[in-house]
Amino acid sequence: MQPTLPELPAGPIGILAAMPGEIVALLGAMRAQRAVDLKIIGQREFYSGELFGRRCVVVLAGIGKVAAAITATTLLQSFDVAALVFVGVAGGIAHGMAVGDVVVADAVLQHDLDASPLFPRFEVPLLGVNRFTSSAPLSNGLARAAERFLAGVGAGRLHRGLIISGDQFVHSANHVRALRDSLPDALAVEMEGAAIGQVCDAFAMPFAVLRIISDAADGDAAQDFPRFLEEHASRYSLGIVKHFLSGDD
Ligand code: SAH
Repeated sequence: MQPTLPELPAGPIGILAAMPGEIVALLGAMRAQRAVDLKIIGQREFYSGELFGRRCVVVLAGIGKVAAAITATTLLQSFDVAALVFVGVAGGIAHGMAVGDVVVADAVLQHDLDASPLFPRFEVPLLGVNRFTSSAPLSNGLARAAERFLAGVGAGRLHRGLIISGDQFVHSANHVRALRDSLPDALAVEMEGAAIGQVCDAFAMPFAVLRIISDAADGDAAQDFPRFLEEHASRYSLGIVKHFLSGDD
């Protein structure tokens, strides 16, 4: 029987992860519970099965906004999912963010979208908005799961707010300063979340984005990012998704 969690919709949850390592960990957990069905569409592998008591479809999103948009659109058009949840790593750009902290997005925005002077900078042309709001119930559930996971780790803080996305790996203090100046409320920078947000907006699909801070998007990012990925990312995302789906306290 599925646990009755008020924040989770009744249907299957689409889970997108950014890195192959995270998919492996989630699939291992899925296989341990039940048979897994694989469908390949658009060069993407969609795994349907049961994860911690919930029906889920797990897929690798790819890197960058276009790859993520293709994956998200295919996922919600070809599978009977009720919500999309993206889990991955990001660079922390707000003051006070540290590697190992977790950010749950209230909203997502494309920091490299600029059709000015035709439209205000960051505004998605013809939509009249520059940010997409995530589902509050899903985000609340993810935030609770992250808090429980971090309490177990004994380190790291949970933040909630704006996550920004662009087709750039941000790796300089100057770039971080420029992002902070133009988007003072941004907490973290990554490459996919806002694409998921725009796709879900088009299809009225609830979504949430959770990112674990792997680097500070500064001159050390190119070293910090792969180190965090190799040593921690898989364990963090699996642990948080487990708390999220099973709703355990
Ligand atoms: N793993 C790939 C490169 C990944 S690019 C490789 O090594 O070949 C970085 C990924 O992590 C993206 O999916 C992005 O969403 C996230 N990310 C982490 N830190 C980031 C940063 N400082 N700037 C932009 N994206 C970042």
